[in-house]
Amino acid sequence: MTFDTIIGHKQQKNILLKALDSQHVAHAYLFEGPDGIGKRMMALAFVRTILCKDGTGCGKCHSCLKVDHENHPDIHLLTADGAAIKIAQIRSLQQELSLRPLESHYKICLIDGAEHFTNGAANALLKTLEEPQPGTIMILLTNHPEKLLPTIRSRCQRLPFSRLPKQQLAIMLAQKLELDDTTATVLAALSEGSFKKALGSNRDLFLEKRPKLIQSLSALSAGSTIPTFSFADELEMEKETLTDILDIFQSFYRDILLLKHNRPEEELVNLDLLEVLRHQNDLTTSASLLVKLKALDSARFHLQRNVNRRLALEVMLMRIAAA
Ligand SMILES: [Zn+2]
Repeated sequence: MTFDTIIGHKQQKNILLKALDSQHVAHAYLFEGPDGIGKRMMALAFVRTILCKDGTGCGKCHSCLKVDHENHPDIHLLTADGAAIKIAQIRSLQQELSLRPLESHYKICLIDGAEHFTNGAANALLKTLEEPQPGTIMILLTNHPEKLLPTIRSRCQRLPFSRLPKQQLAIMLAQKLELDDTTATVLAALSEGSFKKALGSNRDLFLEKRPKLIQSLSALSAGSTIPTFSFADELEMEKETLTDILDIFQSFYRDILLLKHNRPEEELVNLDLLEVLRHQNDLTTSASLLVKLKALDSARFHLQRNVNRRLALEVMLMRIAAA
């Protein structure tokens, strides 16, 4: 992972490169922003350059290779042990940091998911942040900076990251996954600027399963309760991806609304299903689309609160079918 291969986040990249150039690397950074948009990639590119034997992140020296293989002895990766980052983990990290670096001039610690500190862990870490050892660099990554102690936040140099614009992500996906422009744009729109979603298991959901899900959804009608219940069956099994499926349904109805209001096609998400969208546009009214969107919203609300999933899905689909 090098700075050159990172798409977007230009400003953040420049800040880090400038710190390297001027040898003013802070002793603690807080990379904050939504999940899966490249914070960790940026952190690894930064660390690789810091530790590289010729200072460029060459990718060839033994130091760069060890960073890439995540086995550099001077880098300590910390993530939640179960649900939380515990005080014992911070204590053993502090033990590590008190030793001399083995192969470089730095001891670097990367804490991924910094929002998961227990109170004890956060307070213990605060000590390390308050009295930084020379040569120690801490990089905290979080998608919920508001969950960190204000005292931790204020002792780090904060670097906010935002989602990549749809077009930028689409270009990257088209290259990386060898997709045509339309498919890449659809995937980018559904992934909401998240590499993790676009490159991970969601890719199959967004590209392969989506047309079928939308077809089943638009086939529902008020008179046909059996298909409604069997579709609820099908959705209930999708535990991991259910919220993403609801996002897909929402994007579908939103697209039809946009068509109704003669918005330009590039605003649509499901660009590859234009015919289906146009057909549905002829069949439905704005009022009915708004009811369907409301049904999705309310299902999302209930599912987040761990109500009976099955019931929430049935009610949602019945309201959609009847609208
Ligand atoms: Zn190198």
